[in-house]
Amino acid sequence: MMKKVLILGSTGSIGINTLDVIKKHPDKFSVSALTINTRIDLLIPQINEFKPELVVVTNESAAERLRENLSINCKVLSGVKGLVYAAANCEYDILLGAMVGFAGLLPTIEAVKRGKRIALANKETLVVAGELITKLGREYNSEIIPVDSEHSAIYQCLVGEKAEEVEKLILTASGGPFFKKQKGELNNVTVKEALAHPNWKMGDKITIDSASLMNKGLEVIEARWLFGLPKEKIDVVIHPQSIIHSMVEFIDGSVKAQLGVPDMRLPIQYALSFPKRLENDFPKTDFAAIKELTFFEPDMEKFQCLKLAYNALTAEGTAPCILNAANEVAVKGFLEGDIAFSKIPVIIDKALETIENHTSPNLETIIECDKMTRKFAEELI
Ligand code: NDP
Ligand code: MG
Repeated sequence: MMKKVLILGSTGSIGINTLDVIKKHPDKFSVSALTINTRIDLLIPQINEFKPELVVVTNESAAERLRENLSINCKVLSGVKGLVYAAANCEYDILLGAMVGFAGLLPTIEAVKRGKRIALANKETLVVAGELITKLGREYNSEIIPVDSEHSAIYQCLVGEKAEEVEKLILTASGGPFFKKQKGELNNVTVKEALAHPNWKMGDKITIDSASLMNKGLEVIEARWLFGLPKEKIDVVIHPQSIIHSMVEFIDGSVKAQLGVPDMRLPIQYALSFPKRLENDFPKTDFAAIKELTFFEPDMEKFQCLKLAYNALTAEGTAPCILNAANEVAVKGFLEGDIAFSKIPVIIDKALETIENHTSPNLETIIECDKMTRKFAEELI
């Protein structure tokens, strides 16, 4: 049966890859709505090609410019209200969450409350509200299928397995561009160096998170909520080739892994088509060309962000929300040249130490905590 997809963040790296997957399977998927922030020059050709019934441009003036420049009939909404309206009212089967950061939370919750399938790339929503979203997911029968490559790998390894027979999850990390640098050298790295990820071409925010290993920290928290395991059962191993996307160890010592070339279209397609697999023409794994797969322990003294994420997970409550908000502000500060790369964990640590933690937060508490932390972190920039 044809599935309609609403894409939150269609002009980003994941959004563009998702549209490529949809284009390759015109008999299986169509686009119901697209949402973006400002880049209407990228959105206009998407509207002309995929003919959504609705688009949302969060930025008001960009939305106005789009209305003036559209040649085909398509409803245009703006603001956060527009995002929430699309998720709550459009006709669709799958919400592909590919917005970046906390901003993806509200529309995702609307989709969960309608019992939709959530194909989730926007890991920050699970980091800040994992307890709430998984509870609502059970209540409204909404399935969350990960798009993040590590979680997609684990999801695939768990098919046909029993939860009580899982010993631990092993998330792989490329190590990012600074894997071989000494701790002291991280004071002087440039934005350009931090954006040069060795294996993946992604949006700026996640690329900086990959360089600081915060991305892996956020993924540990994401895994805790997706797979319902405590942090003691979620390990990280550095694997610079990014061929093994993650692994599951079972109680008998057997380990299952999912492998493939680094190409996000594969986990995106899997999240759209699950439980089926679909044929495609994506590059396939050539083991003889790869030759070697290597593994290293993560250095949490050098990459403090990973340690801070484990600490926030231990604290639970709003601690992961504080971690995320402080990180979003610090990453923006680094990208804009206002702080050194090594100051990112310093700001997050101060926020975690200072801002009060609330257990089992509801949505209002999470929104309030996010706002308060941003204000606190902005004063440290
Ligand atoms: P990008 O920065 O490339 O794209 C982000 C998208 O979200 C764009 O369409 C952008 O619109 C839109 N957007 C950003 N901020 C807002 C906002 N405030 N309101 C509405 N829309 C907004 O990000 P990525 O595609 O790289 O990442 C998206 C998510 O997926 C992130 O959470 C990331 O961690 C996760 N992810 C990404 C992977 C990757 O390979 N890229 C891999 C695994 C996970 P505009 O273009 O107008 O700015
Ligand atoms: Mg990932």
